Amino acid sequence: MVKVTAPEIVVRPCSHFDDRPDPSDISLLVIHNISLPPATFNTPYIDDFFAGRLNCQAHPYFAGLAGVRVSAHCVIYRDGRIWQYVPFVQRAWHAGLSLFNGRDKCNDFSIGIELEGVDDVPFTESQYQALSSVCAWLICQFPGLTPERIVGHSDIAPGRKTDPGPAFNWTYFHQLLAQQLIAAGYNPPVTGDTA
Ligand SMILES: [Zn+2]
Repeated sequence: MVKVTAPEIVVRPCSHFDDRPDPSDISLLVIHNISLPPATFNTPYIDDFFAGRLNCQAHPYFAGLAGVRVSAHCVIYRDGRIWQYVPFVQRAWHAGLSLFNGRDKCNDFSIGIELEGVDDVPFTESQYQALSSVCAWLICQFPGLTPERIVGHSDIAPGRKTDPGPAFNWTYFHQLLAQQLIAAGYNPPVTGDTA
């Protein structure tokens, strides 16, 4: 049996989610970045935005967010805190118009994780540690998820989305993830792709 300690996750209020068409099909993980206002960190505004209580007068940028209802399953903040907004078996609203391996509506079958950040500013070591541990844990929970089925938002919405951006170090992330999976005794599926 695979043994991975569940990372410490704090559940936060959010109503921006609904049912997956097939809750047993969780086979993609999408990495994003978000910061509110852009490139400003350690504000309460992401939490407010996902909870549907962002004060759109608080910053000029927020005017464009009035009425926007989006979410992600988790946000990993700069200090490595993991706050969860949507249960993994439910559908979060993070991918938008998207396509993975010829299949659209990626929200239906994916988990979305936001890193507090911006495309061109390095993410923190605490974020890489938290992200790799939550991804390893999710891979061990959901057989449809594999390291190969972790993508950036820009991979499934090219031309429309750029996150997590060039500052996200995929090589380092995959090294950390591989270490966690080896420690967990994880065995990759033989076929590699069940989609
Ligand atoms: Zn995104």
